[in-house]
Amino acid sequence: MVASALQRRGPLPAYLAFVVLVGTLPLLVRGEFVLFLGTQIAIYFLVALGLNLLSGYGGQISLGHGALFAIGAYAAAICMVDHKLSFWLAAPIAIALTAGAGALMALPAFRLSTWYFALITLGFANVIGGLLTELRELTHGFAGIVGVPKPVVFGHTLSQGQLYWFLLAVCLLAFLGVRNLIHSRFGRALLGLHDHSVLVRGVGASLVRLKMQAFVISAGLAGLAGTFMAVHKTVITPDDFPTDLSTFFLLVVVLGGMARLHGALVGTLIFFIVPELLAELHDWRLLIYGTSLLLLILFAPSGVAGGIENLVRKRRAARAGPVTDEPAAGASLHAIQGAALEVSAVSKRFGGIAALSDVSLSLQPGSVHAIVGPNGSGKTTLLNLISGYYPIDGGRITIGDQDVAGRDAGHIARIGVRRTFQTPKLIHDLDVLENVMLGAFSDEKSSLASIACGLPGARREAAARQAEAMRYLQFVGLHKRAHDPAGEVPHGQQRLVEIARALVGRPSLLLLDEPAAGLSLDELDGLARLVHEIASLGTTVIIVEHHLELVANLARSVTVLDGGRILATGTPEAVFNDESVMAAYMGKRALDGGKS
Ligand code: ADP
Ligand code: MG
Repeated sequence: MVASALQRRGPLPAYLAFVVLVGTLPLLVRGEFVLFLGTQIAIYFLVALGLNLLSGYGGQISLGHGALFAIGAYAAAICMVDHKLSFWLAAPIAIALTAGAGALMALPAFRLSTWYFALITLGFANVIGGLLTELRELTHGFAGIVGVPKPVVFGHTLSQGQLYWFLLAVCLLAFLGVRNLIHSRFGRALLGLHDHSVLVRGVGASLVRLKMQAFVISAGLAGLAGTFMAVHKTVITPDDFPTDLSTFFLLVVVLGGMARLHGALVGTLIFFIVPELLAELHDWRLLIYGTSLLLLILFAPSGVAGGIENLVRKRRAARAGPVTDEPAAGASLHAIQGAALEVSAVSKRFGGIAALSDVSLSLQPGSVHAIVGPNGSGKTTLLNLISGYYPIDGGRITIGDQDVAGRDAGHIARIGVRRTFQTPKLIHDLDVLENVMLGAFSDEKSSLASIACGLPGARREAAARQAEAMRYLQFVGLHKRAHDPAGEVPHGQQRLVEIARALVGRPSLLLLDEPAAGLSLDELDGLARLVHEIASLGTTVIIVEHHLELVANLARSVTVLDGGRILATGTPEAVFNDESVMAAYMGKRALDGGKS
């Protein structure tokens, strides 16, 4: 099954063949212009590759990448011309400076929504654009920096053709590095950064860190591209970086396909080659562009690369036989050390609403506790407080021996708390197995650098994680769906995927929010068995549930909430046989129409 995931990434020889093909073309044609155009395309590809990582995958819309590109180019040119540094010194300096500028640009992204942030990056681009002419001492104003030398390799100065080859090799390595990152825990979390930040925090990732990493890598690639721009053009002026360059890069990424591995490549090729082919049809160009953009939006909203990927997937699915991804027989799951939970006199208000008042719970390690109550009684809020999504207004929560008051969701996930959500939160751009693997985010140790370079240690860890995720998928009975897109899985099964994702993190405390909602009777039986088995692994479980029979079967103790207060707590027999409690509870449930 590891092999199948690797195959889905496309084999390395195919990429090599592509590079050789594209690489030889300009050399065969021997036209200066073709070579110049090819180099330019490869440089812009590097920028688009980084921007796709940040904006396509991470959802952080940047309208400032043209400026980052300019910073890289000027930094390299200044180092090489004014300070006589070699290419090999100038390149890392330029990349580091650009990455630093990217980190600065990231700062407002921690506070602002996507579109406000996009505006800020636009402002950043304009400021940098202005500085290129204003900081005359440094940038030589409109005259620019003249006479950037070509890189010297072993005493030999590269020709334009050799530079092109060198650049293609760099593009291939950058592409493979980004590909490795995308298929790692970093890429999976990055995909959830924008629409699923609640989920990403819930598996123990730090949003600040993820964003910062994405900005630094993305800006670093723009810096690398800028460095090549300097040695390619040999003269760098502000005219090389017009104000709409940033918009143009974003368009390339959208056209190619946001969050599609080949989007940057497809987008750059189309954006550059089509206008050249259309030179004769110059007057019609806008019409052709407009029509193709419309067709794209209608038929391939995920960009050209996305459209092609979908087609390929459909054809493969049609050809594929029965699923062969049978996990290893007799795979056993690890025992889990359950944690004690102590909730003392906790309260929470939302504006004028007292969602919880003076709520206390005490759970032994490895026990199953149920929470029941009418809609709006505060059940989900209680789970949100325990897992750190909201700060508590008063009281105390201890998990194991840690007081977790004031700790955020990422921290609490890292000490072993996992949960499912009342409305399942799966990343639809990932398949089922990858969604489950996301649950192991905080346990993975390989560094981003070793992942990007595809080092054996990182590969081994990834393969082991994948095998483990597969075992948990088998545990919940969904291993046959491992490679289906998560969005195509029926609602009831999405809850099971969430449970597998939670279990991969080997939680000492597991919180299940209405896992049985919308399940058929058969599925309900399956769920009961599953929760039994989970409890027998050793983890402490809290289950929010309306089915009293299920609760009576599963839970050692139960708490009834009503209007944010505890109505009763005790063993299911005691609570469910207390007529005054049940009268109050059933009365409310009848008003809810018995619905969850
Ligand atoms: P339950 O899960 O038992 O149906 P909830 O915990 O979701 O109930 O909600 C309890 C009360 O708190 C409700 O009145 C709900 O409207 C309110 N509430 C929950 N979350 C928020 C929030 N983020 N902002 C404002 N009010 C909220
Ligand atoms: Mg709820």
